[in-house]
Amino acid sequence: MTNRSPLNWDDAGPSPLPEIPAQLQAVLNGIPAMVGYWDTELRNRLANDAYGTWFGIEPGQLYGMHIGDVLGEAVFEANRPHIELVLAGEPQKFDRTLVDAAGESRFTEVTYTPDARDDGAVRGFFVQVTDITERVLADRRRQQDMDRYRALARSVPGVFVLLFDADLRYLIAEGQELETFGYRTEELEGRRIQDVLKGDLASELEPRYRAALTGQEVSWSRQIGHRTYRLKAGPVYSDDEATAGMVVAVDVTERLQQQQVWEALHEIATAVARNSAPADISERVAAIVLELFNVDSAAVVRFTGASSAEIVAMAPALPPTLSRRHIFAPTDESATVRVALTGKPALVVYGPEGGPAAEQMRAGGFQSAAAAPVRVGGSLWGVVTLTSKSRTGVTEAMMARLAQFAELVEIAIGNSEARTDLELQATTDALSGLPNRRALERHLAEQVALAGTRGTSLSAVVLDIDHFKRVNDTYGHLLGDVVLAEVAARLRRVARSQDILARFGGEEFVWLLPETNGAEALQAAERAREAIASEPFGDVGFLTISAGVCEQRDAAAGTLLDCADRALYEAKNAGRNRTSRYGHATRTARAGDGPGGLRA
Ligand code: GH3
Ligand code: MG
Ligand code: MG
Repeated sequence: MTNRSPLNWDDAGPSPLPEIPAQLQAVLNGIPAMVGYWDTELRNRLANDAYGTWFGIEPGQLYGMHIGDVLGEAVFEANRPHIELVLAGEPQKFDRTLVDAAGESRFTEVTYTPDARDDGAVRGFFVQVTDITERVLADRRRQQDMDRYRALARSVPGVFVLLFDADLRYLIAEGQELETFGYRTEELEGRRIQDVLKGDLASELEPRYRAALTGQEVSWSRQIGHRTYRLKAGPVYSDDEATAGMVVAVDVTERLQQQQVWEALHEIATAVARNSAPADISERVAAIVLELFNVDSAAVVRFTGASSAEIVAMAPALPPTLSRRHIFAPTDESATVRVALTGKPALVVYGPEGGPAAEQMRAGGFQSAAAAPVRVGGSLWGVVTLTSKSRTGVTEAMMARLAQFAELVEIAIGNSEARTDLELQATTDALSGLPNRRALERHLAEQVALAGTRGTSLSAVVLDIDHFKRVNDTYGHLLGDVVLAEVAARLRRVARSQDILARFGGEEFVWLLPETNGAEALQAAERAREAIASEPFGDVGFLTISAGVCEQRDAAAGTLLDCADRALYEAKNAGRNRTSRYGHATRTARAGDGPGGLRA
């Protein structure tokens, strides 16, 4: 034996080795790993075919080769410390990336086991190389997935993601929103929910987490401060087995708010479609704003002049201490006044120098407010406003949302106002200001039905100016119009508030008297006749009217108005300036009535 170092394989010369029995080689080849044995001179003494194949060496050729020739210089140098240690009797285990005969990188786990004699002297060492490439790649993929997953969870605003294992231990807790819930990534990861979650949260969450691990999807909502989160727990599968659970929390506040706004608008639109009056729509708007913004009060205010406003609707209802009408000064620090002056949304925190408006609000316990303009037909109609009892209860973000909401509300109010105007035009007689014939027909149908269901009486009086043609002929049509308006005004003064007085057409009026029988209606008609006959109509002088009265139950045949009209005809025939009740004797004008300047 020469005295050369076995680790310096360049000097290693071939020395004769015994043959390996074929049976032993067969056994070695049956081992599903790469195995070999190296002696103290680092020559191969045993190797299965898999070992040789790995390094591209023909079966049988490995035997007797020096380890350095097999591994190549770089790997040999890398393994040298392990070889030295195993030859000193210490078992070795390490990972090594090797390039196989096909040029592909493989990940291996290598173990060196010393072959020691009883006296401790090492004769050589066993090598076992396990190809762990698949496992390493899978781990790497998993790690990359995890990293991507983290990056994603961190970068998406309003979200956080939790991954937990079967022991309910957080593997990943990531996302900007985590802190909103009062937790940090490093506090949670690697720890079990029972050990990290505050209060009763762990026991509340445990059933959901466990359900997720059994493959179920569980979702729930949680309110934190002003924000709403939607949480969803579900299983994470690997190899067809739910091995972990995942929780994703998403801030759905904006989405919910948007949804609520649409629901509110739908409600308002429905009110508009049902021909609700602007005041009713305002009531609804105030109630909706109160709920939508979760504030202490909300109102719809209408500007009634350059420096005056009226609270059209308020929620909760207008307190008795607060007046409905307000006169304001430009110096008033109220959100509504700011809108009046600037036409823009305003946010105000009430202070001691805010003038009477701020003082009144402070007295009511209110500390902050926002108002947004409502424009109808191109001009500033009013505002939608909200107030809070906290100084920080109204934020810029709320003001911006209120402004958006007000823009939608103005469409509703605008439509409703326009329709109400049109309706008013369509149902009112311009000359007298009384309901016109169309409106009368609707009222009549309503009153007849009402009297029928309530079993109350209803009477109608038809009134006609006597010889009105002469007024026109003598004084002209224009003065005739003035006289018509004056007659209408006198009749209105005689009628009760529950009565309906309409201009039926020309110089004819109809007067409906609910809960009035024929006899009472006749007396009412007499009062009307007197109201006309007793006072002259300016230059035109004295005029008279005739009236026909009918009670609903007398109108057995035909309609109530036909019946009253027939009575009027009788009054005219009996000489005018008279009242007549259908089916009864005509009442004659009393002595002392006006001379009837134009009477024939
Ligand atoms: P009688 O006593 O029979 O009722 O006679 P009368 O002249 O009042 O009746 P008639 O029906 O013959 O004439 C009604 C007149 O009323 C005819 C028309 O010129 C006039 N008239 C109808 N509507 C208006 C109106 O809006 N303005 C004016 N100035 N006159 C009107
Ligand atoms: Mg007439
Ligand atoms: Mg007439």
